[in-house]
Amino acid sequence: MILSGKEPAAEILSKVKQEITKLERPPLLAIILVGRSEASEVYVRMKIKNAEEVGMKTRLYRMPEESKEKELLDLVERLNKDNEVDGFIVQLPIPKHINVNRVVEAIDPKKDVDGFHIQNMGRLFLGLADENTLLPATPAGIMKMLAYYNIPVEGRNAVVIGRSNIVGKPIALMLLLNDATVTICHSKTKNLAAFTKNADLIIAAAGKPRLITADMVKDGAFVIDVGTTKVGDRIVGDVDYENIVKKASVTPNPGGVGPLTRAMLIYNTMLAAKNRRD
Ligand code: NAP
Repeated sequence: MILSGKEPAAEILSKVKQEITKLERPPLLAIILVGRSEASEVYVRMKIKNAEEVGMKTRLYRMPEESKEKELLDLVERLNKDNEVDGFIVQLPIPKHINVNRVVEAIDPKKDVDGFHIQNMGRLFLGLADENTLLPATPAGIMKMLAYYNIPVEGRNAVVIGRSNIVGKPIALMLLLNDATVTICHSKTKNLAAFTKNADLIIAAAGKPRLITADMVKDGAFVIDVGTTKVGDRIVGDVDYENIVKKASVTPNPGGVGPLTRAMLIYNTMLAAKNRRD
């Protein structure tokens, strides 16, 4: 089975569009983009397009690469206080001279539609997240994909490759909360194949092109390819799609996790708008 992200993403966006019509004014998503990364430009453009397609308002704040941390924190504070703004993100990565943790922690958790703030992450990690919690978009999108394709999680062996705060750790937690037996692998893991061969579900989020080859995947497994690495003018995932698709279910890349990540950001913005109005 090819696990396309387009259909589940379209379903989420269409639900959001309906919900928005019930609000007295459309939600407003703001995006802060620091510097001029080519990849970030593309991601931001697509996020704005998706938001506007469902009827949201958007604002894009551009800041030069050499901006000072204080200038970014001041803008974050302004958006926190701006009553018209329902949710906003600082597009990552930001330039290295700015402390990303300080920036994320400065965002009002109620407007943190990336779901990276310690309050939102903390709820997830303590198993206290509910339907109003702003969850990180990529892992939340992967869980939506698993549900959409009726992929069983409970009691299954799940292997997560990568332990970042924005993908690896939260998806491992979400799978655990859904009763999978979870193994987290990373760059120091010895014999990665020994883990993946035993997995019913593999989430590859290492950002290493073709790290997962067909011989590392058992027949009938489900493989979610999160990785996006620019190689020449192409985006390459972490898994060898062409060979794995012959024996397992796998996400295409592009067209797999990406559309769901964006859909969940839009979903979170709608949720933030509703939470604030309530
Ligand atoms: P990250 O912060 O760079 O983390 C990468 C993780 O992979 C680290 O934990 C690292 O281990 C691990 N790793 C690296 N090489 C490995 C190897 N050879 N074997 C096993 N593990 C290895 O990246 P991220 O932010 O989580 O993103 C991961 C990838 O997903 C990137 O390509 C990113 O562009 C992509 N992404 C895509 C979407 C989407 O919507 N499609 C969204 C977010 C991210 P250590 O901790 O030991 O260094």
